[in-house]
Amino acid sequence: MELYMTADDEAFREEVRAFLREKLSEDVIRRSHTGMHPPNEDDRRWWNRVLAEKGWAAPHWPLEYGGTGWSHIQNHIFELECRLAGAPELRWQGLRLIGPVLYTFGSEAQKARYLPAIIKGEEMWAQGFSEPGAGSDLASLKTSAVIDGDDYIINGQKLWTTEGQYCEQGFFLVRTENSDRPQKGISMIIIDMKSPGVTVRQIPMINGEGSTCEVFLDNVRVPRENLIGEPGSAWVYAKFLLSNERTSSADIHKARADLERIRNIAAHELKGGKPLLEDADFRRKLAALRIEVDALEWSVLRVMHEAPSRHPISACASVLKIRGSSLQQKLTELMVEALGQRSLRVYRREEAYAEPDGNPLWPAYTPGVTADLMYLRSCTIYGGAMEVQKNIIAKLAFGF
Ligand SMILES: Cc1cc2nc3c(=O)[nH]c(=O)nc-3n(C[C@H](O)[C@H](O)[C@H](O)COP(=O)(O)OP(=O)(O)OC[C@H]3O[C@@H](n4cnc5c(N)ncnc54)[C@H](O)[C@@H]3O)c2cc1C
Repeated sequence: MELYMTADDEAFREEVRAFLREKLSEDVIRRSHTGMHPPNEDDRRWWNRVLAEKGWAAPHWPLEYGGTGWSHIQNHIFELECRLAGAPELRWQGLRLIGPVLYTFGSEAQKARYLPAIIKGEEMWAQGFSEPGAGSDLASLKTSAVIDGDDYIINGQKLWTTEGQYCEQGFFLVRTENSDRPQKGISMIIIDMKSPGVTVRQIPMINGEGSTCEVFLDNVRVPRENLIGEPGSAWVYAKFLLSNERTSSADIHKARADLERIRNIAAHELKGGKPLLEDADFRRKLAALRIEVDALEWSVLRVMHEAPSRHPISACASVLKIRGSSLQQKLTELMVEALGQRSLRVYRREEAYAEPDGNPLWPAYTPGVTADLMYLRSCTIYGGAMEVQKNIIAKLAFGF
């Protein structure tokens, strides 16, 4: 695999940058550069539409379903430049999670119905896997789906559903049969989030925001044609989906953008009358993280390049997930350290998004840094907790 950028790759990077300069307003960039969670919903939908018009909303999808046919390196350049420029982050659940499941395992009718709406950003998706008694031990999930004529009747409760309050559709794991092996009776089904019997309740965070939800399913009637693939076979689809989620969770593009953000803060904050960026101790810490980001970036690209031929892909995905999520935490910790006392101000969303008023106490790089640090405490839990990833590596890579 050749990881050096060719002249064509650099020309492509320039094309992407020109597009981003043309489309992104200062307001949008300012909102994206704060670490508020959940990110601004209107901006995300708008950006999804802009990319769809250009044909760039789902570059990693196969061409026949609306992808671009770019190389892995081009996909990487595109996502990195979007992040560095301050483009809104597109929601993963449709484009990265259920989209690939649908074009790989879904029926022709499902592909025709759902894939175009995902690409155009017309429908957002919720991931309904975890339950109050089923997180790491997902196979113990209890939400049931019972056949009634042409429909399933679904009852149960899902938990931690990211941004469920904004979603039009959801992909849910449900139990369609009881079997000796708990994994065997689980199916994946699409539920219209506006169906009678679906109640979405936001879980408030300490700062008043709500990134995750509880979803209650009370005698929800869903057409049988909404079942994805074979009944009872969802474990295969869920593992495929979670591998994609874990590789994406490495979030290498955010890590690169965070490095830039730290440098910017440290160039302006002073220590002993000099920019913090000139402090030897701080520079060592920054350099150590930079090396980790470089190493992770190469690993992500290598795994993506080799994915089709590599055997224990989910072990690789778990390695990337562990390295990437702990790196995100270290980066935001150094960012807060660079910000010093300024990190103690708690911003309400509207304050974080407002234009800076020129008050030197609160420069433009301050809002949202602490919010991001606090939110990212959870990145070693979501997509599968750290300890569980280590178990997967032990089993798949080392056979324990
Ligand atoms: C911000 C956020 C967003 C989320 N979004 C979604 C979403 O959109 N959709 C969705 O379905 N879920 C979502 N989740 C849920 C997430 O997948 C679960 O929280 C995660 O799988 C852990 O499950 P749990 O919370 O039940 O913890 P538990 O499984 O109860 O784990 C508690 C602790 O025990 C450890 N542990 C558990 N089992 C083992 C074991 N076998 N060996 C060693 N240690 C173990 C864990 O590592 C953890 O430290 C989200 C979670 C968060 C925090």
